[in-house]
Amino acid sequence: MPNRRQVLMQLTAATAASGTVLMPYRLRADGHSGDVFDTTVGQVTVHPISHASMVLQVPAGTIYVDPVGGAALYDGLPEPDLILITHEHADHYDPPTLAALVGSETQIIANPAVQAQLDHPATVLANGESVLWEGAGILAIPAHNLTEGRLQFHPPGRDNGYVIDLGGYRIYISGDTEDVPEMRALQGIDLAFVCMNLPFTMDAEAAADAVREFAPRVVYPYHYRGRDNGTQDPAEFAEMVGDASEVRLGPWYS
Ligand code: ZN
Ligand code: ZN
Repeated sequence: MPNRRQVLMQLTAATAASGTVLMPYRLRADGHSGDVFDTTVGQVTVHPISHASMVLQVPAGTIYVDPVGGAALYDGLPEPDLILITHEHADHYDPPTLAALVGSETQIIANPAVQAQLDHPATVLANGESVLWEGAGILAIPAHNLTEGRLQFHPPGRDNGYVIDLGGYRIYISGDTEDVPEMRALQGIDLAFVCMNLPFTMDAEAAADAVREFAPRVVYPYHYRGRDNGTQDPAEFAEMVGDASEVRLGPWYS
């Protein structure tokens, strides 16, 4: 496999030869190559899109999580077979982007508050409920604030995180939450996406502490920028996680 630099050099050479201009969408498509995980159930490819949005290609199909920001961000990726929506905030739920991405075969799973606003048919999962999709279990994990002064952002009982169980390979997506007991009690998570930002969710220290407890094999910090460009530092998070989990950094903000 050529490395990224070689690919870029080939692209540059091809561009020079053809006299065309390398358009930004080519750069984005190049960035969509994704991180591939070889698992016991087949290949899982992770495409970080931005902030809270990602695309997961799994053996059962292509899953979009909280797609926002316009359909052009998803150019070059397969259509979604399933869209998971965690909650109603604009960095997670964007009706125009959804309308542009939903195909005739796309299924949507959402929390009750989003489902009530949707123009499309959807399966609704409240906290703790689960459903089977193409043989994969989809379980809604509570996602909410715990700290006084932050409870208004994500009140208990409204929003979802999700566990996707692909026949034993288990992916956890936190949604917007602090380190709730249901997160800390997760078992057998192979791949996790854990949010952190203030004041809306939690700081990197709380996120790392929870990760040390439920010990996913691999974890991506995501959703780590907040108000006024404030950020939690993913490198600091990685240091605090230590050897409890393999920390992967993705291009969430590039
Ligand atoms: Zn939120
Ligand atoms: Zn958010």
